[in-house]
Amino acid sequence: MPSNPRDGVHSQAIIEADVIVIGAGLSGLVAAAQAYADGKLVAVLDQEPSASVGGQAHWSFGGLFLVNSPEQRRLGVKDSAELALGDWLASAAFDRPEDSWARLWAEAYVDFAAGEKRRWLRSLGVRLFPLVQWAERGGYGPQGHGNTVPRFHVTWGTGPGVVQPFLAKVNEGVARGRISLHFRHRATEMTTTAGGVTGVGGEILGASGAGRGEASSRTVVGRFEAAAGAIIVTTGGIGGNHALVRRQWPDGGAPEHMLSGVPASVDGAFLAAAAAAGGRLINGDRMWHYPEGIHNHSPVWPSHGIRILPGPSALWIDATGGSCPPRCFQASILWAPSGTSLRADTDIHGSCATAPSR
Ligand SMILES: Cc1cc2nc3c(=O)[nH]c(=O)nc-3n(C[C@H](O)[C@H](O)[C@H](O)COP(=O)(O)OP(=O)(O)OC[C@H]3O[C@@H](n4cnc5c(N)ncnc54)[C@H](O)[C@@H]3O)c2cc1C
Repeated sequence: MPSNPRDGVHSQAIIEADVIVIGAGLSGLVAAAQAYADGKLVAVLDQEPSASVGGQAHWSFGGLFLVNSPEQRRLGVKDSAELALGDWLASAAFDRPEDSWARLWAEAYVDFAAGEKRRWLRSLGVRLFPLVQWAERGGYGPQGHGNTVPRFHVTWGTGPGVVQPFLAKVNEGVARGRISLHFRHRATEMTTTAGGVTGVGGEILGASGAGRGEASSRTVVGRFEAAAGAIIVTTGGIGGNHALVRRQWPDGGAPEHMLSGVPASVDGAFLAAAAAAGGRLINGDRMWHYPEGIHNHSPVWPSHGIRILPGPSALWIDATGGSCPPRCFQASILWAPSGTSLRADTDIHGSCATAPSR
């Protein structure tokens, strides 16, 4: 066992840019594309091989939150920024001093979703399925939390249809020598100068043939240091790290059995590094998990997929396998372990009101 963890690691890479983006998931691609559009020299780091570019969003349904869209109006859905903000605030139940930022974010995001968001996405080539879905509906009336009207706009091409326009922009930046992509670069620490973050350091991992979303090796073959005027952390959440989920679970009451609906790369490990450099992490205990009772069909991601039944259909069932009453019809979007058929009575537990719906 080497006394210094860096022993045996020979290569040392230096990366410099105006902007460094840590994470090549959708958030990272959007940030990199935007910084490139603003004329910046950008470096993107990601711990995974290039096969996993786009991160979770590739696997996602591509359901987009839009408010008072033409698609909603065509279906007779009456929506407004006020209604959407009311739903958001009722769900979030902000009640901590640190929630002031989250509240400002909610207001700004609802404005965006009711304003330029659709136009902006269309300008990039994103197109929407005309039937707006009613995910995250929570309760079934204005008093319940969740969306009181359908707002879940499914992208044509689902997740890959959302990733592609941003990846295309990033690839354009790469072709023009304005963006560099550094896969297998795992950020582990931030460097600070006079209280400000000025750089990021980490490990260069050995080449990996892991396919998209599969766990890749963590064999370290080198080190890197990167410096930039701005560093953007887009390393995703913690869902693939059950130890961290348990640690953050309110009142220590985490369930015994948990499954991952995210790739192993969603390890949350960099959050501690960001905090150590002065980042303020808030609301770690406020997590959103899907119901228990589902079993991974295999230990390898992807652990679940999406089944959509066109409606109206006799196959619309609630989460326990019973026929849905009319109000429950949006449970027609069902999640199940991928590669399995849905056995509602044994695979899914819960009630229609709590069924995962995206
Ligand atoms: C099956 C599924 C369906 C979904 N459906 C929807 C939907 O319909 N609508 C919706 O709005 N959302 C949906 N989501 C959620 C949404 O896809 C994610 O919230 C979003 O894609 C997260 O993007 P991200 O870029 O923040 O994180 P990620 O996609 O997790 O990307 C983070 C990247 O950072 C890299 N990284 C992590 N740590 C490091 C490190 N230390 N150093 C270097 N790189 C690092 C990772 O390798 C990864 O590439 C879904 C998610 C899943 C899994």
